[in-house]
Amino acid sequence: MFENLEEIKDAVKKCEKCGLCKGRANTVFGVGNENADIMFIGEGPGADEDREGIPFVGKAGKLMDQAFIGLGINREDVYIANIVKCRPPQNRNPEKEEADACLDYLRNQVMLIKPKIIVLLGNVALKNILGEDYGITSSRGKWIEKKGIKYMPTFHPAALLRDESKKIDFWNDLKLVIEEVKKS
Ligand code: URA
Ligand code: SF4
Repeated sequence: MFENLEEIKDAVKKCEKCGLCKGRANTVFGVGNENADIMFIGEGPGADEDREGIPFVGKAGKLMDQAFIGLGINREDVYIANIVKCRPPQNRNPEKEEADACLDYLRNQVMLIKPKIIVLLGNVALKNILGEDYGITSSRGKWIEKKGIKYMPTFHPAALLRDESKKIDFWNDLKLVIEEVKKS
């Protein structure tokens, strides 16, 4: 376990714990407020994120940014990270071994940031954090509380690019998050 985020970031930069290290241009550690109340967890870097070393800067990220603006969320106020910190080839889902290898870093980040709420973006985030028994279609929009953290599963923004009808659910789920954080 690391004592601060910079130490984890340095370890991630050099990490070769799984095969994804081979294809990366940059590691994508996470960005945002280190004392954030809300943390967003995605799947893994895509091509744009791999190039820039920052999560959610590509098409899906732009869509998320639009929702943030509409809902009055400041990107700088929240923290954004992914299940795996190196880009899977052809943007495939991370394999279980890859996610397992990487999860220690994310858990350490969560421990240090201590968010009140974690928004799980899509099935990969949901299943790796809360377990294989969960599925995004049935779990989205419902609070799941574990060890003092409230989890809100919702669709991955890339799913909204494929199916516009999911946008309203995504929006409503994030509205629940805003309402909850205002209470605390
Ligand atoms: N999709 C993700 O899951 N994470 C990113 O950082 C970008 C796209
Ligand atoms: Fe290490 Fe995670 Fe990158 Fe795998 S994905 S090499 S575990 S930082």
